[in-house]
Amino acid sequence: MLVNRTNYTEIVKQLSEGQVLVAVSKTKPAEAVLELYELGQRDFGENYVQELCDKQAALPADIRWHFIGHLQRNKVKYIAPFVHMIHGIDSERLLEEVNKQAQKLGRTIDVLLQVHIAKEETKFGLDEAELSGLLDKASAGNFPYVRIRGLMGMASFTEDAGQVGREFSFLSGLYDQYAERHSFTVLSMGMSADYPLALENGSTMIRVGSLLFGAREKTQ
Ligand SMILES: *Cc1c(COP(=O)(O)O)cnc(C)c1O
Repeated sequence: MLVNRTNYTEIVKQLSEGQVLVAVSKTKPAEAVLELYELGQRDFGENYVQELCDKQAALPADIRWHFIGHLQRNKVKYIAPFVHMIHGIDSERLLEEVNKQAQKLGRTIDVLLQVHIAKEETKFGLDEAELSGLLDKASAGNFPYVRIRGLMGMASFTEDAGQVGREFSFLSGLYDQYAERHSFTVLSMGMSADYPLALENGSTMIRVGSLLFGAREKTQ
């Protein structure tokens, strides 16, 4: 068995209506995705463009593929035809490129803006001023082929639950600040180590990998 069914059932049980589990299958084989698919899971998350394209081609067409990694502009075109949601929009230039590829395809692509909430400088994401600026431009109609559905964030990698809770609560506050005006419906936060804390803080979408598919070879 490639999937931890006990953990899957346990996690799904903790979700209320309107909360979604994205099963993060990066580095795991297509067979593992299929095993979870057969249990009813439809939302899957991937971090690498090539891997995502390979899996999309090999797996059932009704899977909703979430791109959750750091996306390079020159690779947007490969996932634009089928991607369900792009979580990691962290610059205006990337948003422009998604808009351009979506226009070419005559579709609208759903995205989340990634906010930098962790202490680690290495993590990606917009700061508060950049977020506000980008939302203003979106409101002004600059990205007509993109729909900004909400925000995404990654908490610090730490055992300090207080710190993680504060970071989630900060992101949740930003979400509340903008949700109504921008018709947000998605707050993507929480991973294997911290998803209960994220749910407590108002997450509507958790991204869980290792609890479902086992540990990955290396940290990525
Ligand atoms: C890998 C990854 C996850 C899942 O991490 P786990 O700790 O295995 O649950 C969630 N979100 C992002 C952005 C990731 O890169």
